Amino acid sequence: MRHFRDELRAGGWTVDYREIDARPATLSGELRRAIRKLKPQRVRVVEPGDYRVLEALRSVCAPIEIVTDTHFLSSLADFRRHAEGRKQLRLEFFYREMRRRYGVLMDGAQPAGGEWNYDSANRGAFGKAGPGLVPAPAAFLPDHLTRQVLERVRELFARHPGQLNRFDWPVTPAQAEEALEDFLDNRLTAFGEYQDAMWTAQPYLYHSRLSVALNLKLIHPRRVITAADERYRTGQASLAAVEGFIRQILGWREYVRGIYWLHMPGYAAMNALDAHQPLPRFYWTGETDMQCLRAAIGQTLEYGYTHHIQRLMVTGLFALLLGVEPKEVHEWYLAVYVDAVEWVELPNTMGMSQFADGGIMASKPYAATGKYIQRMSNYCSGCRYDPAVSTGSKACPFTTLYWDFLLRHDELLRKNPRMTMQMRNVDRLLPGNKTAIQIQAQELRKRL
Ligand SMILES: Cc1cc2nc3c(=O)[nH]c(=O)nc-3n(C[C@H](O)[C@H](O)[C@H](O)COP(=O)(O)OP(=O)(O)OC[C@H]3O[C@@H](n4cnc5c(N)ncnc54)[C@H](O)[C@@H]3O)c2cc1C
Ligand code: SF4
Repeated sequence: MRHFRDELRAGGWTVDYREIDARPATLSGELRRAIRKLKPQRVRVVEPGDYRVLEALRSVCAPIEIVTDTHFLSSLADFRRHAEGRKQLRLEFFYREMRRRYGVLMDGAQPAGGEWNYDSANRGAFGKAGPGLVPAPAAFLPDHLTRQVLERVRELFARHPGQLNRFDWPVTPAQAEEALEDFLDNRLTAFGEYQDAMWTAQPYLYHSRLSVALNLKLIHPRRVITAADERYRTGQASLAAVEGFIRQILGWREYVRGIYWLHMPGYAAMNALDAHQPLPRFYWTGETDMQCLRAAIGQTLEYGYTHHIQRLMVTGLFALLLGVEPKEVHEWYLAVYVDAVEWVELPNTMGMSQFADGGIMASKPYAATGKYIQRMSNYCSGCRYDPAVSTGSKACPFTTLYWDFLLRHDELLRKNPRMTMQMRNVDRLLPGNKTAIQIQAQELRKRL
């Protein structure tokens, strides 16, 4: 904001910018103050990223002119039209519509390569040898202005979780462009294949680190998509890599925003699985003997970043299986990640990760045992638990809780055709084994 403020001022604009100070302030309070001071003829704001902010703005100023946010490729009205008359929303149909609309990865009316989706080529793991040398992403040393803000944050929020000394994010459009080029040159080719893989002490692997720049509008999604498409067209990257990347931005990113605004404010209060367990305290410290959670949470507190699969299939999965109150999970994700804005965080957390929306966002809960984590990472090799074991002292808590989750939600999950295979495996459990799993899960819940 401060770099943008200075750029505007240098361009001759008058900017009334209020710096944060120790006094408690609210956005609505500041707007009220600004209206009193500046006596504007009208107030225009761009669509905010959060329902609460929209309400706060409206409560201060009526009428207020809300301007469409042109930093997205599907407006809220577009998404509403897409949703109209559909019993169920699914990413795939929306994504195809967006590909056609913007002519991205299309050969005439057909998808490039003949397939819409190369998801099946996006699930590679590194194997025992590990990822080898991964090119480090472009890092941006804080300049004078950023250092001032970091110092202010250190003073005002000393007791908040996380660290500041790793801050190396792009903070201007020029830096965001550099981050994009760096990703395209050095990591895009392996992005698709290793999108879901995880490795200790490798926070970024082949990911782009562009969510912060995109969410802060330092770079336009169309620019990112066009530049990736170009790499495929010029033969510099495979279709599977480029499609996997573009799907995240043209598909998921736009789709979750549509879901958010279509279902707010009710969405934030949903709890379809009736989950009420408190969030374990170790989410705020990383102090746990479960190596996967220790790594993902430790990295979160150090960098303010983990990639999608760590969020979905480590921290999110554990909360889902344990049965944590979705609101607490949501508040954690909103607090700890540098790219967190409610329009994107909430549907990912409540919908995709916790299934609290009962299937609006995902067709089934993302439930798995510790064996998924073992396949996709090296976390289990340093852990005191065994992902193949569900009861006893070596039992992996993910595996125990996975079976317990299926048993607890048996009636609901059997109605879901996509859960048939998983529920068939529940039927194969011996009655004594089921009881032992449930007792162990109960003990875990008491302990955590
Ligand atoms: C529980 C949970 C919470 C999340 N909270 C946030 C959040 O607060 N802010 C946020 O930007 N993303 C969030 N995501 C989505 C995703 O994890 C991040 O966008 C991604 O990890 C950012 O890293 P990257 O830029 O290196 O992404 P890459 O893996 O390089 O992906 C490229 C871009 O695609 C977009 N993208 C990828 N996956 C998603 C998705 N599921 N939804 C929306 N956009 C996506 C992002 O803009 C990202 O920068 C969340 C996912 C989960 C499961
Ligand atoms: S054994 Fe279980 S708890 Fe340990 S790292 Fe693997 S999945 Fe995580």
